[in-house]
Amino acid sequence: MGWVVTIDGPAASGKSTVSRELAKRLGWHWVSTGAFYRGLAYVALQKKIPFDDIPKIIELCYSKEWSVEMTDSKTKVLFQGNDVSELIGREDVGNYASLISHHSEIRKALLDGQRSCSMGNVGLIAEGRDCGTIVFPQAQAKIYLTAHETHRAARRAAEEGQAHESILAAQKNRDEQDSNRKTAPLQVPESAYVLDTTHMSLDDVVKKVEFFVREKIPV
Ligand code: C5P
Repeated sequence: MGWVVTIDGPAASGKSTVSRELAKRLGWHWVSTGAFYRGLAYVALQKKIPFDDIPKIIELCYSKEWSVEMTDSKTKVLFQGNDVSELIGREDVGNYASLISHHSEIRKALLDGQRSCSMGNVGLIAEGRDCGTIVFPQAQAKIYLTAHETHRAARRAAEEGQAHESILAAQKNRDEQDSNRKTAPLQVPESAYVLDTTHMSLDDVVKKVEFFVREKIPV
């Protein structure tokens, strides 16, 4: 297994953008573990499975109808042969993902796929909620990104062209669900480098994170 760096943090804290940029600078792979939960949620929504039908959702975790692939630009989700990566970004998909992600059987079913992203000799940046605590507890460098909630919501609202108020409410709800669940809650991993990006540019965030990683890992 190659080097692993984890980046965890709440919704819309910039984890994907920072991971992608950092991976480019290091020549590594990156994966959004949220894409596994969002992919599952998207497929369940397409199949009109209620979020509390856990046996059906667990079955869906193992279905060959959908899969997740790492690429340089995104973590791609394929459903019935189609790339649905753009569709999984919707807030309703994120909310469904958050509603089902506290079930330990669902998390267990998605774990192997996430861990297999670190196979091979190329380093991996893994981002999500529990990457530094559960998915890759042995990671050589752990980062926790955060930012003020109104700032995060404004970022997401601009990206999605939606009203700030509704994004903020949905985000608050998701943060609360993700932080207070019993299984793999969002938390700062031990020894993680915590960075509040509220007043920072993307370039400054990536520079700081890259400096931290290069101090930990001889890359
Ligand atoms: O990071 P992203 O917003 O794409 O994640 C969507 C949802 O998937 C989160 O709100 C969370 O409930 C779940 N998730 C998780 N563990 C991860 C990544 C995402 O529970 N490692």
